[in-house]
Amino acid sequence: MRDTFNFSAGPAVLPEEVLRQVAEEMLDWHGSRQSVMEMSHRGKEYMSIHAQAEADLRELLGIPAGYKVLFLQGGATTQFAMVPANLLRGRKSIDFVHTGEWSKKAIKEAKLFATANIAASGEDRKFTYVPARADWRLDPQAAYVHICANETIGGVEFDWTPDTGDVPLVADVSSSFLSRPIDVARHGLIYGGAQKNIGPAGLTIVIVRDDLLGQANPGTPTMLDYKAHADADSMLNTPPTFAVYVAGLVFQWLKRQGGIAGIEKRNIEKSQLLYKLLDSSGFYSNPVDPASRSRMNVPFTLPDAALDEPFLAGAKAAGMVQLKGHRSVGGMRASIYNAMPIEGVQRLVEYMREFERTHG
Ligand SMILES: *Cc1c(COP(=O)(O)O)cnc(C)c1O
Repeated sequence: MRDTFNFSAGPAVLPEEVLRQVAEEMLDWHGSRQSVMEMSHRGKEYMSIHAQAEADLRELLGIPAGYKVLFLQGGATTQFAMVPANLLRGRKSIDFVHTGEWSKKAIKEAKLFATANIAASGEDRKFTYVPARADWRLDPQAAYVHICANETIGGVEFDWTPDTGDVPLVADVSSSFLSRPIDVARHGLIYGGAQKNIGPAGLTIVIVRDDLLGQANPGTPTMLDYKAHADADSMLNTPPTFAVYVAGLVFQWLKRQGGIAGIEKRNIEKSQLLYKLLDSSGFYSNPVDPASRSRMNVPFTLPDAALDEPFLAGAKAAGMVQLKGHRSVGGMRASIYNAMPIEGVQRLVEYMREFERTHG
């Protein structure tokens, strides 16, 4: 096992097994005498990698017929514009549930296209919770309802799928993709960048219901039209081939971990280790409502910001990196995605106890 655990929020830790396989196959993929990076995306080798990755993703998430899987580029940030460009379907407004920084960015971009109605917001309590469904004011005329399933910066996560009736539900799952089951059939569209929980940066995955395709706003560029990508099996232009290949290996790794159910069990175990320590300590704190706590991103603060630097330096010396919190929040953030081994969380918890004992 590597001797350093990486708690980065993204690009983030990948399974060591996968990285080793990538290294082994780097110069000669399966006897092709080419690196995947060097292959034509239209050749039979790459086409088989692409098709297998999609098949494995469909199997893992149980994606039903009637949904397309698109392998795109541009990050989740491009989806902030691409979703409204495609899903307005002549309607004038979008309902947003505002749960923090990433919701805010999605809202800002959507305003280029339509009225963004804040159906519910966690702002009254500094974005430390997911507003209850009973408190949402949804508009039945809205084009869709947008949620951020896991706020990567604030560490606030939905652990339920909201019912939005006939209005399609759209979810940004960038930082919780494949960490827990998701009922795809209750969504109109799901999107996320790969670099948090799936693979290298450069790949963005979109899962979209067929009936929502083909109604892009007039003037939408071809590259921003889901239908054009769907019709071309995500080969409208050169796809991010190497990122798709690595993501495909991660999907196979996930299957070996018992699929989504297996990895979810471990994610629960890992996050509980950390939250249990935070809750039992008078030294560290996490402001998030226990019912809305993220299993993937755990922000916490020390009693005095002057302790941040010594904490980080000690963590680094003990083989733990990238624990510094987001600049907008301060303090620390431990991102414990699928590929973070439980040993990493155990080491962190031990270190935190020791740091509290010597600095508390
Ligand atoms: C990281 C992140 C984004 C932005 O992703 P990019 O791929 O960098 O555009 C959007 N939403 C969430 C929830 C994220 O964690």
